Amino acid sequence: MATVVREGTTQTKVLIIGAGIAGISSAEYLAKNGFTDFKIIEAADRIGGRIWTHDIGGTSLKVEMGANWIHGIERNPIYQIADENGLLQLRYKDKGLRHRNIFLTETGVEVHSKTVMECDFTYGLLIQQCEEFFQMSMPTPYDIDSVGDYMDVEIEEKLENFMGSERKMREMIFNQHIKQETVVSGCNDLHEVSLSEFGCYEELPGVHYTIPPGFQSVLDILLGKVPENNILLNHTVKSIRWGNNDNDGGVLVECENGRKFSAERIIWTCSLGVLKASCDRMIDPPVDRMFDPPLPKEKRDAIERLGFGVVDRVNLIFDEPIVDTDIFRIELLWDDESYNAENRNPDMSTLWYRKLYSFEVVNDNLLSVAAGFLLEYWL
Ligand SMILES: Cc1cc2nc3c(=O)[nH]c(=O)nc-3n(C[C@H](O)[C@H](O)[C@H](O)COP(=O)(O)OP(=O)(O)OC[C@H]3O[C@@H](n4cnc5c(N)ncnc54)[C@H](O)[C@@H]3O)c2cc1C
Repeated sequence: MATVVREGTTQTKVLIIGAGIAGISSAEYLAKNGFTDFKIIEAADRIGGRIWTHDIGGTSLKVEMGANWIHGIERNPIYQIADENGLLQLRYKDKGLRHRNIFLTETGVEVHSKTVMECDFTYGLLIQQCEEFFQMSMPTPYDIDSVGDYMDVEIEEKLENFMGSERKMREMIFNQHIKQETVVSGCNDLHEVSLSEFGCYEELPGVHYTIPPGFQSVLDILLGKVPENNILLNHTVKSIRWGNNDNDGGVLVECENGRKFSAERIIWTCSLGVLKASCDRMIDPPVDRMFDPPLPKEKRDAIERLGFGVVDRVNLIFDEPIVDTDIFRIELLWDDESYNAENRNPDMSTLWYRKLYSFEVVNDNLLSVAAGFLLEYWL
């Protein structure tokens, strides 16, 4: 295809937007197949997007600010890269003596493991039931649309047989699981997650791994095949003109810094949030600030219907070891019901920590968790 050459416009055959792992692995795929006429443009001043391994100054410690685990091994390309390049550490085996998870209330009481195990088992069955609506094409119960609604009803039923402090403990353990599930599902609240579709998420089989040299090391391996000059940082795309006759069917991309690119094809890897923010649907007809012409209606509708929540990581670094040498996870049991009863209209901007569900001991003085927070906490 002939490309119209414009003054001040950088020509390239393929333009990849976003230098997260999707953008970098697209580039690696092109490069290893002998195709190097591409550029990657990235808004941030670093490569990696939601993968971000951070060195802690003055120590050999590395903390992940984003992705941390390889979830499953079968058909998992990240696992394959990490394994082939000797980057792996098995999630539990190599933790040495660290094998114990403790469940602590906010007053520091450790909950008996029998209660925890019973609740874990019941919760596991409930999650399995939620998945079966999709997996077995079963109709969901009347009036129950979300995973949150289903859990509310079922958990209440399971708690009916318990009274007083025993009931309270179990309620807190179930709540802890629910908070963890919001992170796994990437939502603010399980009431936003469709019960009929919940089971479509497929977890890859096999154990979970961490990557001791950092998740960044997987990116570094991919980057080894990508010509350095093909990556442009600090280039935020502001508009994309595609499929126009005045561009010979190609694509014209303009960045906020004024630079323009012309390409035959683009590979878009930015997140759903960027897509949502680029289109103002409150106006009729909707105004798409990124794409001209706007994306096809079925794509716009899908972008609008799909939801997401905030998942962030909290790392706590201490000057000296603070937990026993056998502890792997500290599970946090918050008594939200009592708190909410005593505090009308609590100020959520100062209470975000009550959504932390557990900390994992990365090493003796580093605790880490990925946690889901309500979006409005941060606005
Ligand atoms: C706290 C946290 C923990 C996580 N834990 C795990 C885990 O343990 N295991 C796991 O497998 N996954 C985990 N994930 C998810 C995983 O990090 C992401 O799925 C993955 O990194 C997404 O990669 P991506 O390339 O698709 O998108 P991104 O990493 O979001 O990359 C998109 C890139 O596009 C850039 N961009 C955006 N807008 C523009 C624009 N207008 N112009 C140019 N560039 C733009 C962004 O700056 C970004 O670099 C976690 C995520 C978070 C946030």
